[in-house]
Amino acid sequence: MDNGERRDERSSLDSLSCIDAHIHLDMYSEEEREAMLQEALGEGVKAVVAVSRHMESALVNYGLAQRYPQGVHPAYGFHPEQELPADDDIRQLIEWIRERHAAGEPFAIGEVGLPYYMRTEAEAVGQPFDEAPYIELLDRFVALAAELDRPIVLHAVYEDADKACGLLERHGVRKAHFHWFKGSEDSIRRMAASGYYVSVTPDVAYEEEIKSLVRQYPLTQLMTETDGPWPFEGPYAGKRTIPSMTKEVVADIAVLKGLQAQEAAEQLLRNTKQFYTL
Ligand SMILES: [Zn+2]
Repeated sequence: MDNGERRDERSSLDSLSCIDAHIHLDMYSEEEREAMLQEALGEGVKAVVAVSRHMESALVNYGLAQRYPQGVHPAYGFHPEQELPADDDIRQLIEWIRERHAAGEPFAIGEVGLPYYMRTEAEAVGQPFDEAPYIELLDRFVALAAELDRPIVLHAVYEDADKACGLLERHGVRKAHFHWFKGSEDSIRRMAASGYYVSVTPDVAYEEEIKSLVRQYPLTQLMTETDGPWPFEGPYAGKRTIPSMTKEVVADIAVLKGLQAQEAAEQLLRNTKQFYTL
């Protein structure tokens, strides 16, 4: 590919619209996230879904959603890859989420899920890991999503996805988004058949496991995300993770699905707008 072609490819990406369906805005510095958001919204990123890790990050995302009502769609929850919260803290967070609901505000539940990486790292060095309280905590959030009829954003990969599917089925929750999903062929089939959504990060550029997931999963149930500020490798090595990287994810999905980038962009945008009611 010569430089002219590369320039053409870049400018065709410039015109794409996209949504970053999973980003941790609160983990960027205050000045950085404001500049980054304004730049993203000016560059064809139609919105970002700002997920929370705990009460403090929920408050940051709440503030951003107030200031950027079209651009920032918040999700409120407790991230599973950390120490369990005190019961009072969770009660307080859930109460606060109910208040947001009572006020009629737009939001989803998340990021919630199961601590796959904490658990497998502990198990790898022979340490015991009690998963039961994490499952109970996820059960409370799935019940809350059912009660409030809100979409839920899940961190549940490999065998944990099946545990999460069991909870979703038990509570009759149908609007579930498994972010950065990785899992077995059986889980992929089960989730696709249940109508659940998965989102794809920039690592689709260099991870065969993710390319294979994209080839198999229905296009109508896919979304794009960065999980920023998480850093990526391959063509993104050393680059700061920003929402407009989802344009390149759109282009990679288009290639894997045998579509024009514009066609894929429109469908992915439609999926995300419908799922999150944007
Ligand atoms: Zn995340």
